[in-house]
Amino acid sequence: MRISELFSSARPSVSFEIFPPKRQDPSLFDDHAAESAMERTKEVVRRIAEARPSFISVTYGAAGGTTGANTAMIAQFVQDACGIPALAHLTCLTSSREHIADELRSFREKGIENILCLRGDIPSGADERVRGRGGFAHAVDLVRALRPSAFCLGGACYPERHPECEHLAEDIAFLKEKVDAGLDFLTTQMFFDNNVYFHYLSRLRDAGITIPVLAGIMPVTNGRQISRICHLSGTTLPPRFRAIVDRFGENPAAMLDAGVAYATEQIIDLLANGVHNVHVYTMNKPEIACRIMKNLHGIVA
Ligand code: FAD
Repeated sequence: MRISELFSSARPSVSFEIFPPKRQDPSLFDDHAAESAMERTKEVVRRIAEARPSFISVTYGAAGGTTGANTAMIAQFVQDACGIPALAHLTCLTSSREHIADELRSFREKGIENILCLRGDIPSGADERVRGRGGFAHAVDLVRALRPSAFCLGGACYPERHPECEHLAEDIAFLKEKVDAGLDFLTTQMFFDNNVYFHYLSRLRDAGITIPVLAGIMPVTNGRQISRICHLSGTTLPPRFRAIVDRFGENPAAMLDAGVAYATEQIIDLLANGVHNVHVYTMNKPEIACRIMKNLHGIVA
């Protein structure tokens, strides 16, 4: 199923995100260990799928996609074993044209109809010859290459601007090019203050970007990690949220309760104010996925 069909339904969409096993993990060098990592991930997916999200997105390893096969395999599992539409992420920065063509073939063979077109982060110390060697210097290049196909295509966007871009206006101008190249929807980077999303959405609409913009919500359950992640991604921690991290960050059980409650409240506020599509960065944590969906049961049922 093309997930763009979900966005015109009367029911709001709430989607989840998971990541496949990483090939770089040294414990996965032998086939047996790789197989059991895949089985563990499938079990996580099964449990996350019990919350019945609208779709599940599956991330893609950066830098040439060493985990690409795992993305396709897990996305196929989401669809065939769990009966939930899958969105496969695909990064392009260090990929050759042949590699991208192989990935598309694999997605088609597995019945995957939805792709999130991404550039990927620049690997530290990456050689200019490797970056963009297939002509994919930016995600827009991938969108242009994929648009003639029948895939439903999504892209990423950044309410607090992408960290490499100095001005939000310039970032939005590049985003407009990416959308015009043939995107069907966008998903935002995480944000912790809904006003940031509302202001951004209004700027996108002013810029002529009219496609659905899924609001990306990260339930934070690890106080230590979040400050570093926010620093790297340029995401602001509002004082109300910082107080939660300061108070409960060192207590995992308390942080889990507070993180789920904060994310739930953010989602309810978004839905109450007319946002129709929310994407939750559940990151292989079935407990978080199920608790959030339970909190929203009467709202999105
Ligand atoms: P782009 O759209 O190419 O933008 C990157 C930068 O280039 C921006 O600063 C933009 O302003 C600028 N730019 C764009 N076009 C041009 C142009 N024509 N000329 C000059 N500058 C330009 N990473 C992964 O490795 N795997 C994943 O699965 C993954 N999933 C993600 C999902 C979401 C929802 C989000 C928000 C991010 C995800 N990322 C993932 C991270 C993403 O790869 C990085 O944020 C990356 O740095 C940018 O990717 P992009 O597709 O937004 O790039």
